[in-house]
Amino acid sequence: MYDINLKNVTKGFGNLQAVNDITFTIPKSSVTVLLGPSGCGKTTLMRMIAGLETPTSGSIFFDDIDVTRVPTKRRNLGMVFQYPVIYRGTSVKRNLELPLLSEKLSAGEISKRVNDVADLLGISGDLNKMVEELDNGTRQKIAVGRAIARQPQIILFDEPITNIDITAKLELKRSLKEVFSRLSQTIVYVTHDQTEAMTLADQIALMQDGVITQCAPPKEIYEKPKSQFAGWFLGNPGINFIEKEHISVAGSGINSSLFSQTIDAGSHASQVKVLGVRAEAIEVKTTQSPEARSARVVRKSLGIGGQYLLDLEYGSLKVKARVAHQLGREIGDQVWTTITSSDVIMFNEAGVAI
Ligand code: ATP
Repeated sequence: MYDINLKNVTKGFGNLQAVNDITFTIPKSSVTVLLGPSGCGKTTLMRMIAGLETPTSGSIFFDDIDVTRVPTKRRNLGMVFQYPVIYRGTSVKRNLELPLLSEKLSAGEISKRVNDVADLLGISGDLNKMVEELDNGTRQKIAVGRAIARQPQIILFDEPITNIDITAKLELKRSLKEVFSRLSQTIVYVTHDQTEAMTLADQIALMQDGVITQCAPPKEIYEKPKSQFAGWFLGNPGINFIEKEHISVAGSGINSSLFSQTIDAGSHASQVKVLGVRAEAIEVKTTQSPEARSARVVRKSLGIGGQYLLDLEYGSLKVKARVAHQLGREIGDQVWTTITSSDVIMFNEAGVAI
């Protein structure tokens, strides 16, 4: 399989720099998710990897082969788009066979690949159905099957779940996770949905304003965001930010009304402008203790996995904390909280983690 090597890749549309001087390697045989808000350049970057757009400057290599100006059909790629690309008026089986007909394969090999792909996607029972009989989640599975049956070196997914009915979404995501774990191809997957990225990625390449700001496995990018943007974009809710009016610096120590202990920031202390704390890093208790800070519950909402999110108020400072259902606190109640120093992330004036 191929690494995808981007060297100073830039794409401009008139005055707009959609992709701005990206040098980056997408590692072979793994799932790299290009994640970022609408308009950050992820689709443009993928379209250049596909050969559907030509960079304004810079080069794209598959391993060490320069493909910058190689047409799409000679790049040995599979592609899956937002809307399933399938042939209506034909069966599922025929849809899976069609891309294989130009591959000079024996009838036996074609049949084997169709059956293997259908098995992998859990649609063996649908092979003889017409595509019109199926929901759009299953149709997207057929589009995935068509892309992988040819066994290309690289498979590109452009928001394949976005336009699928809510009921079929979860099943399709589960199926893609299973398929990705069994494929050895280099997979690039575009989405603006951080939950999808956290579920499917081996590594997330987070994009903002045409550049990749951080690339790391999901757990690492979540726990160690290199910027306020990464801390805000990843997670539901995003990271709590404690702004400078709630921070005091004394020598190398940082204090805040959120924690009782002083956090040592060493020689960087004077550069610290904002602190970041994840909602689950705030330990909430119903009883007082010497090291705990007092807060009031001002809002309670249902979080994921049967947990609750509490909006807590420490004077004028407000943060969100994730708590177990059993905690049983209500709006207006008092609670006591503690935080481990190592769970606090420090950011400088530019929003960069230090
Ligand atoms: P979305 O999730 O909304 O698709 P994205 O991160 O994929 O966003 P792109 O589609 O790559 O972003 O677009 C990046 C920027 O380039 C946007 O401002 C978009 O309007 C602009 N753009 C993309 N394609 C073209 C084009 N063909 N002509 C002009 N501007 C374009």
